[in-house]
Amino acid sequence: MQSDPTTKRCFRCDTAKPLSAFNKDRSRSDGVQTYCRPCHKVMQNAHPEQRQAKSRRYWGRNTTRVRILRERRRFRLLAAFVEDVAVEVLVERDHDRCGICGKAVPVSERSVDHILPLSKGGLHSYANTRLTHLRCNVKWYNNGAAQLRMVG
Ligand SMILES: [Zn+2]
Ligand SMILES: [Zn+2]
Repeated sequence: MQSDPTTKRCFRCDTAKPLSAFNKDRSRSDGVQTYCRPCHKVMQNAHPEQRQAKSRRYWGRNTTRVRILRERRRFRLLAAFVEDVAVEVLVERDHDRCGICGKAVPVSERSVDHILPLSKGGLHSYANTRLTHLRCNVKWYNNGAAQLRMVG
């Protein structure tokens, strides 16, 4: 079938077509792709759809996971809710100092930290909260909480 060098049989539609009907592919010995242009287009169109559906499914699953986590957090907060804790009040009470590192807290770094985490039965109240740096809060969560878990 390859006797005529100016035509090539498309692998997909099984039709002999002139080489000009194929996209160029320098990695192949005859210099063109296995599929003719129309077939290549069909294949190309089929693939992005698959990929899109896959990613949509992935994101669908992922956002559900995030939503569940967020809802669980909200539920925990609701269950532990004693009073509305305003960061401004903590700033007053804690004299603008971080409860973890003891340094002054700029407005952009203000964060409300639960001294006993809500996940461990801590309450969302002024008694169980303190002003911290956002940075310290996260660090505490990653290091301190893990150490506490190891000790306790
Ligand atoms: Zn074809
Ligand atoms: Zn701090």
